[in-house]
Amino acid sequence: MDKKKLAKVQKDIENKATLVAVSKTRTKEEIEEAYNCGCRIFGENRVQELKDKYDSRYEWHLIGHLQRNKVKDVVPLVSMIESLDSLRLAQEIEKECSKINKIMPVLVEVNISREENKTGIYFEECLSFVKNCMKFEHLDIQGLMCVGPLTDDEEHIHECFEKMRVLFQRLQTEYGKDKIKYLSMGMSQDYPIALEHGSNLVRIGSLIFGKRK
Ligand SMILES: *Cc1c(COP(=O)(O)O)cnc(C)c1O
Repeated sequence: MDKKKLAKVQKDIENKATLVAVSKTRTKEEIEEAYNCGCRIFGENRVQELKDKYDSRYEWHLIGHLQRNKVKDVVPLVSMIESLDSLRLAQEIEKECSKINKIMPVLVEVNISREENKTGIYFEECLSFVKNCMKFEHLDIQGLMCVGPLTDDEEHIHECFEKMRVLFQRLQTEYGKDKIKYLSMGMSQDYPIALEHGSNLVRIGSLIFGKRK
């Protein structure tokens, strides 16, 4: 773990955003070290890996695509699912959370750059998708998440994050700022840009833990 880099991130996001330390592929020891440096929320994208590393002292967010047959395993472990990307997944989360009497905070994942290999709801479908999901009593939709485009074209990254801000503000107007709280965007490479466009939850892995193998 790079303590200096972590300290810089913590300073950059201070009073603006909360850090999700993305701990996929990292060991329990690395996670413990990050916790000792002030990281409180850890992000994992695979359910099996999360189960293997789960520790109730920490808060966990699921940030990767979730298969419906894994919902049952993950809902007791996480405090947020950031990657809601289909109605069928919402139905499954509703079903499993009602069984354990849990109301699950979720973010809707938006495929803002329209890349084919990415999951997420398209921009134009988001308002109706959120509306459809409001009927689920055990889902608490708290905002939006996206993965920025993988490109060196900074202009395009700005464009995508700005579209997210606009959509986020639409939802806040519709459902209230108390309910729609989180705009999760920004990773190691692009979090400073994301902050400029109102991100208040950043998901950072390699910058603080070092390159993944
Ligand atoms: C891996 C991952 C991140 C963190 O990426 P880094 O480039 O390592 O900071 C953030 N969000 C999601 C959804 C990821 O899968």
